[in-house]
Amino acid sequence: MRGPVVLPLLENLSSMEYSEMLSKCTDRIDRKAKTSVFTPNSEMIYMASRSRKLRDLILSADILFPDGVGVYMAMKALRRSACVKTAGIDLAELLIKESAKRGYKIFLLGARPGIAEKASEKLRLKYPELNICGYHHGYFKKSGNENIKILKSINRSGADILFVCLGFPEQERWIASNLKNLKTVSMAIGLGGSFDVWSGAVKRAPSAVSHMGFEWLWRALSD
Ligand code: UDP
Repeated sequence: MRGPVVLPLLENLSSMEYSEMLSKCTDRIDRKAKTSVFTPNSEMIYMASRSRKLRDLILSADILFPDGVGVYMAMKALRRSACVKTAGIDLAELLIKESAKRGYKIFLLGARPGIAEKASEKLRLKYPELNICGYHHGYFKKSGNENIKILKSINRSGADILFVCLGFPEQERWIASNLKNLKTVSMAIGLGGSFDVWSGAVKRAPSAVSHMGFEWLWRALSD
């Protein structure tokens, strides 16, 4: 990795624990403060180390929440003693649980057709109070009329939170260009393959595998 390019990325990653980050998120949602949350993993940091555009894109987020053991180890190497091992999908699940309590509405955007719908069914079974106010698959034209139709449907849903699963860097680009046009959404979060996991289409690596830092190998083998 190219040090001078990667340092600002690592330095800007949050070192908050889940509970602290969760209160930061709910506070911003309650204040209706427009917030983009990106969850960089080591592959994203590596790709950003080779492209200034990707680095600037990642740094444009309001919150950067580290995803995975690779980023954790890099942060630790920078002697950020307060850092903890975190994952974007786990923060999202905590936000889902909190949304069920507080009545925040969530819209799911992304993944192959049928997957966001299946994920929403499974999440509703797990959290019966949860208000998933809409979903749409991620295989649409990200500009022009098709994109406008998606924006309108999210606006009509009255969503407070938008989960975006289009893969890196599509989801970050989409959030960076479209969040301002979403009238009710306070928080948009890039979450990679999370709908595939929640729908049951893809299994998450067992926690022992993730703890050892081999989640990437598990995913490669599963794919
Ligand atoms: N995806 C999508 N639209 C696209 C390309 C990808 O909705 O145009 C979805 C894909 O179906 C998958 C997710 O984006 O659900 C990417 O998951 P992955 O785990 O590969 O994300 P990454 O870790 O690469 O960001």
